[in-house]
Amino acid sequence: MDADERAAIMEEVRRTVRDVPDFPKRGILFRDITPVLANPSLFGKVMMALAAPFESAGITHVVSIESRGFILGAPVALELRAAFVPVRKPGKLPSATVREDYTLEYGTDALEMHADALYGAKGVLVVDDVLATGGTAAATCRLVERAGGTVFACAFMIELPALGGRAKLAGHRVESLISY
Ligand code: AMP
Repeated sequence: MDADERAAIMEEVRRTVRDVPDFPKRGILFRDITPVLANPSLFGKVMMALAAPFESAGITHVVSIESRGFILGAPVALELRAAFVPVRKPGKLPSATVREDYTLEYGTDALEMHADALYGAKGVLVVDDVLATGGTAAATCRLVERAGGTVFACAFMIELPALGGRAKLAGHRVESLISY
């Protein structure tokens, strides 16, 4: 994919993502990706644009975060011919898990991954829809390492740079398609 093609996709994504003010609570401007998913041609191009920087990177596993991350991570994993590994909210995964707690604006939350999903994996790509404060992606990177894997990079469709997520992922390569 050349730079012009990538720029055209970015522009189309920017026009298509729907901004919903005050969702899920007052003061949050929610970036709704469902209009992108509803456009199969654009959805396909987004998937290709997310995967393209890693075509020759030796990615063996794509790790994605419940639930919108799954929508993007699964096709990216297929495109890169890599294993897909789900990260889920506590209590959802059936086999032995590793767990990471992380801080939210109010309180804490936790994420789990199957303990045997990644052992020794050197080329792990973490994929999610939006990088906001970075708490979710940082907890996912810690899970990858706890499970014996190595994060190669994190890739997002949308980055909200004002919220400082990139700093929370310091030490990891971060790619995002568009930022606001
Ligand atoms: P964070 O841990 O703050 O980086 O938040 C990341 C998660 O929250 C992502 O999985 C997003 O799906 C979701 N998220 C946070 N802020 C927004 C937003 N403004 N619009 C859409 N999704 C968001």
